[in-house]
Formats: sequence, structure tokens, C-alpha cells
Amino acid sequence: MHIHQLALKNYRNYDQMTLKFDDKINVIIGENAQGKTNLMEAIYVLAFSKSHRTPRDKELVQWEKEYAKIEGSVFKRNRYFPLEIVISSKGKKAKLNHLEQRRLSDYIGALNVVMFAPEDLNLVKGSPQVRRRFIDMEIGQIQPTYIYHLGQYQKILKQRNFLLKSLQRNQQSDRTMLQVLTEQLIEHAAFIIEKRFTFLDLLRKWAGPIHNGISRGIEQLEINYHGSIEVSEESNREKITTIYHERFAEMENREVERGSTLIGPHRDDLIFHVNGKDVQTYGSQGQQRTTALSLKLAEIELIFNEVGEYPILLLDDVLSELDDFRQSHLLNTIQGKVQTFVSTTSVEGIKHETLEKAELFRIENGK
Ligand code: ATP
Ligand code: MG
Repeated sequence: MHIHQLALKNYRNYDQMTLKFDDKINVIIGENAQGKTNLMEAIYVLAFSKSHRTPRDKELVQWEKEYAKIEGSVFKRNRYFPLEIVISSKGKKAKLNHLEQRRLSDYIGALNVVMFAPEDLNLVKGSPQVRRRFIDMEIGQIQPTYIYHLGQYQKILKQRNFLLKSLQRNQQSDRTMLQVLTEQLIEHAAFIIEKRFTFLDLLRKWAGPIHNGISRGIEQLEINYHGSIEVSEESNREKITTIYHERFAEMENREVERGSTLIGPHRDDLIFHVNGKDVQTYGSQGQQRTTALSLKLAEIELIFNEVGEYPILLLDDVLSELDDFRQSHLLNTIQGKVQTFVSTTSVEGIKHETLEKAELFRIENGK
């Protein structure tokens, strides 16, 4: 798949702009603060209906303007189709084939995007929340029902935490409602965990060899799921449900004491090992970057595996950070099959052979 055309209106520092892209490599060149990341972000928002760098949609609307609009023409499964996102103070509208999609799970997944930016190092170095967001977003764009279950889970979790707080303060003592919410929570939790296990299985299959390749055969990457309940990854949804029931029953008094839900997918994490050692604690900067990059490249293959077409790859400010070998390895892996956007402040950091094949865009102050 590829994005054929993108039109922006009042988006960040872009007043109005329409661009046609190459279906292979597009290089975005510009000094700092000219709009390179904004352009990549707009493509990301078109895919996910939200930004990779802020949860607040209104930041995307140009200062003093009423609304922002992103329109894209996407080529997928041998045909072109339009996507549109409009953000205003009234909220957000997402249109697929000119039809408004009320449920985001009906919109997300139409365009598949993988982004790799400097802050993705946080996948390895950052908090568990960053890693949970990573798996949730990735599964979500392959399986829209996952987004539905995740949304339901979060809604019930909030209600349940609220109730636990009031039980903690002894404002009520009847626990019937708590058990009802626990029951509902488990239903979605088991779905989420089952999908995460399936996803991890595939992620390992791809990320391991990719990591090994980038590190010239020296490093072995291992990915482990660190769950708040103990359950084998071979377990099906029923088995996971049973274990959650047992654990929640054991935890009930402690949860009331603490006024919070102490187990569930929102408490889980991923742990990465390179050659047997935890990369977060012991890895060098280069090993951490290789791990993050391997995960992202694995994602590309995973999406291909599920969707039957390669996603679009956004490389914001990262290509020139990689040494010659890694840059070549990366570009060889995606060569010709993945529409790629590369941003850079100077062409010097980018290999000559890449530039020769690319369409170049020079960005200056949102133009
Ligand atoms: P760098 O090389 O430093 O990463 P960049 O080209 O990626 O730079 P962007 O992050 O795209 O730069 O930002 C460009 C400009 O957009 C910034 O100067 C910022 O002030 C401006 N900007 C951000 N949000 C808005 C907004 N809502 N309205 C108008 N301008 C904005
Ligand atoms: Mg930038």
C-alpha cells in the first residue's frame, strides 16, 4: 500500500498544502522547526486518528484556527480510496470513503503505518506504559476488535477503581457491584491477553532474526511477557479467564484496602534480553537502539503477514543516526517493497544510493 496524495489544511505550521508522493522513497529535507515531524505526524494521524506525540488533539490545529483537516488518497488492494480526519473544538471526525466512521475501530486499520522516531528508544528505556501502548497500537491496527475490547476494558477499569475507592473509604460495604464489574473486566482482559500472546509469538519470530542480522550475527534478542498473573502463553481464553477469576478472588480484600485494581493487562509489561541480559538495565545505547529498530522492522513483516500488504514506514530523524552498516541493512530490508518517508536536516547523513532513488521534498516554514 502507499499514500498517493496528502492534503493539509491548518495542520500545525501548514496553512494549506497538497503533495504527491513517490511510492518507494520520499526524503523530507529541512532545517530544525520547519515542519518535517509535523508532516510525518499528519500521516500518522491519518492512520490512527491520533498523534504519536501528544494525546491532546487540539495541539494539531494551527494556532488561532478553528479546525485542522488531513486528507489522503491511499492505494491498497489495487484501488485508491480517500481518508479524512477533521479536528476542531467540537471533536474529531474520521471519514473513510467519504463516510463518517463513528467507531474508531471501523476507521483504524484502513491505512497501516509504522513509525520509527528518536523517542522510540523509550520502547526499551521507558516505562511499561510505553511498551503496553506499543503492543496495543500494533495489535489494534491489525485487529480492530482489539481496540473495541481495550476501550471497554479501560471504561470498566475506571468504574471499578472508582468503586474500590469508595469501598476503601467505607462509603459502602455491599460488594455485589464490585463482583459484577470484576466479571465484566475479566471478559475483556482475557480477550486482550490472548491476543497479546498470539502477537508476541509472531513478534518474536520476526524480531529475533532481524536483530541478529542488524548486529552482524552477534546478538540474540529475547522477548518476555511480564504479566500481573501467572499464565502460560499457550493458554486459551477460557484458561486465562479461570486464572483471572481465581486471582481476583484472592486479591479482593487487598484491592479494597488499596482502592485500586492491582492485576490485569494494564499492569503488564514486556522485557527484552540481549544475549541473556536485560537491555533496559545493561544494554548499551547502540544495543537499545537496535532492539527498538528490530521491533519496528518486525512490525512491518507482521502487518504484511496479516494484511497481505506492506505498511508505510515513517523514519523521522533516525536514518542519519544509524551507522553505515545498519543504514544499508535497514534499506535493503525494505528495498522497493515499503513506501518510506525519511526526514533529515541534511542530505549528508543519507547514503548516496538512497538519495538517487528518492523523491526529495524541501520544507521551509510549513511550505
Ligand atoms: P526538527 O528538525 O527540530 O525536528 P521539524 O522540522 O521536525 O524540526 P516540527 O516539529 O515539524 O519541526 O515543527 C515545526 C514548527 O511547527 C515548530 O516551530 C512549531 O512551533 C510549529 N507548530 C507546532 N504546533 C503548531 C500549531 N498548532 N500551530 C502552528 N505552528 C505549530
Ligand atoms: Mg522533527
